[in-house]
Amino acid sequence: MEQQKCYENYPAWIVVISNLISFSTYFIGGFIVYQIGSLWLALYILYILILELKLLGGHCVNCYYYGKICAFGKGRLSSLFFKKGESSKFCKNKMTWKDIVPDFLVSVIPIIVGIISLIIHFNWLILFFMVLLFILGFSGSAIVRSQLACKFCKQRKLGCPAEKLFEKTKK
Ligand code: SF4
Repeated sequence: MEQQKCYENYPAWIVVISNLISFSTYFIGGFIVYQIGSLWLALYILYILILELKLLGGHCVNCYYYGKICAFGKGRLSSLFFKKGESSKFCKNKMTWKDIVPDFLVSVIPIIVGIISLIIHFNWLILFFMVLLFILGFSGSAIVRSQLACKFCKQRKLGCPAEKLFEKTKK
C-alpha cells in the first residue's frame, strides 16, 4: 500500500463509482424511509444534506484536495461554495468510531425503519432493499474507501485521522 501512486486529481471513473455507491445508499435509504411517510423522508433528506454540508464546509476545506478532484469530487465542489481552510487543521483532531456514528446512521436509520415496516406489513421488496442497503452502506463504501479512495490519496500520506482509524481496526 505504501508504494501506491497518488492521484493529483482522481480519474472520472473513480468519482463516478464512489458517488454511485453513495447516491444508491441515499436513494434506497430514502425509499425505505418513505414507507412511513413523506415527512420522514423530508427529515431523512435534510439529515443527509446537513452531513454533506458539514463535510464540504468543515473538512474538505482543509483537505489537500480542496479545489481538486478527490475520489468523491468533493474537493472541487467544496471550493465552489466554501473558502479554503488550513491544511494543518485536517489532522488536528483524533477520530474515534463515535465520530463516524452520524455517517452510519444514514444506513442504520432506514434499516431500523425497514424492520418496523416488515413487522407491521411484510414486503419482499422492502426486505430486498434493506439487504442491498446493508451491503452498499457497509461493505460497498468500505471497498470504495480502501480500494479506490484512500489507496491513491495524497492526504493519506500527509495524515488523515479517518484513515488512521480504519487502518487501526484492520490490525
Ligand atoms: S485518506 Fe481516505 S478518508 Fe482520508 S482524505 Fe483521503 S480518501 Fe478521505
